[in-house]
Amino acid sequence: MLAADPTLKCVTCYARISFDGRVKDAHGIEDQHRGMTEEARKLGWLVVYRYTDNDKSASKESVVRDDFEQLLADLATGTTPEGYPIHGVMAVNDDRLYRRPSDWERYLKAFTSHEGRVYHDSNGVQDLYAEGFEIKGLVGVAMSLSETRKKQRRTRNSHRSRALRGQSVAAWRPFGWEDDKITLRPEEAEAIRQAVKDVIAGASISEITRRWQKAGFITSRGNPFQYQTVKQVLQNARLCGYRAIKGELVRDGDDQPIVGEWDAVITPKQWFAVTAKIRERGGSGAGVPRGGLVHKYLLTGILRCGNVLEDGTTCNGKMVGIKANDWLRYEHAYTCKGTVDGGCHKTYKRGDKTDDIIEKLVIKKLKKEAASKAKDVPDWDKAEALKRAVNSRNELERRWHDDEDTEIDDETFFRNLPVLERRLKDLRADRRNHEALKAEAEAAKEDIEKSWDSKTLTQKRTAIKKVLIAVVAQPGGKGNKAFDPELLKPVWKTSE
Ligand SMILES: [Zn+2]
Repeated sequence: MLAADPTLKCVTCYARISFDGRVKDAHGIEDQHRGMTEEARKLGWLVVYRYTDNDKSASKESVVRDDFEQLLADLATGTTPEGYPIHGVMAVNDDRLYRRPSDWERYLKAFTSHEGRVYHDSNGVQDLYAEGFEIKGLVGVAMSLSETRKKQRRTRNSHRSRALRGQSVAAWRPFGWEDDKITLRPEEAEAIRQAVKDVIAGASISEITRRWQKAGFITSRGNPFQYQTVKQVLQNARLCGYRAIKGELVRDGDDQPIVGEWDAVITPKQWFAVTAKIRERGGSGAGVPRGGLVHKYLLTGILRCGNVLEDGTTCNGKMVGIKANDWLRYEHAYTCKGTVDGGCHKTYKRGDKTDDIIEKLVIKKLKKEAASKAKDVPDWDKAEALKRAVNSRNELERRWHDDEDTEIDDETFFRNLPVLERRLKDLRADRRNHEALKAEAEAAKEDIEKSWDSKTLTQKRTAIKKVLIAVVAQPGGKGNKAFDPELLKPVWKTSE
């Protein structure tokens, strides 16, 4: 066709949808491509390739858009993956292609790397080679950034207004209700009712959790119930028809809680009682079972990510333990959480070696502390006093025994002896105590290594947290590279 018509434009189309909250983008992928194909036909262009990024946001830095990257690469080489020449690009709107200045710059660079290309979007055919277009594009990016923010605000606002109207804002079917989120699912509602009654009467969340697991209940997302999810269910204001946003009940103008349009499982009175009971028991309110959250891995939350981010700050995200991939020789690893959880996802450490190094460091530190504590026990300072007391008593005896030049009669002797004896006894007891103290401190020093191995994971974590504030893990040493202990920096607590 090209040979027959050298002026024919072979163009590629780019389509993208993102998930904006839970509402699908207005333009479905198919709609976008259909629209572009029609436009191409009108312009006499030939669509030679379709790039599609499904469910990808263009405003988030962390999201890699595979087809967008492919498009940039193809624009640079000049041909599609199948080898067709690329004479142009189409998009429904330029915000499909880029929403961030850096993407715009990369796109423009790739596009203009070849002469004579055409570009088409909702504004018609545009000349990307024209002077000033860089600026125009950047302004567009700025506009779409503000548009994104506005949309986010809108979602938030509509959440609140729905709540004010008493309408359900739940994304998932809440446990206890049918899919319409209004009608009760009898067996689940009954389980909640019973649980509320029992918790008010003193049952623990753990007991309820076990009961629900045994009964085969699963959360509306399809997972088995855990302590946390049971607790969330029981604390949800929805149970009594109320609605809470960020822990606050939504109230009307008269300060009365808004009552939802859905059926209630329990009365407001019961709900207040059960939440009060859970709060009272939770103590700190941190939402952990009594006895503390049981960790599976030694250094979860103790390791912090030391990756330096683009803006020069350190990530400092709490790293979590994860099960290592099956093909690896070690069983667990630590990783900085993904960006949605406030991490950078850049630092990864194999678990066995990391645990080993930190344990050794902590043992060394504990030993040193024990040694200095042993040294802190001073020598016994009453040795002189004891010697004098012994002498005095001997002297008294001697003088009493020596008949000739006796100055001490029986009466004097027996009156003085108990005083001296008691003094001796006190001093010797004091010396014994002191020696025991010293011995104990010395023994502790020897014992640390031995007793460490018999500690449970929780005990070890407690011991570690006593001396360490955190361990900062710098990225590196992943894959085949040797594990570098120097990349782990302990932050010790100062003993005072
Ligand atoms: Zn990080």
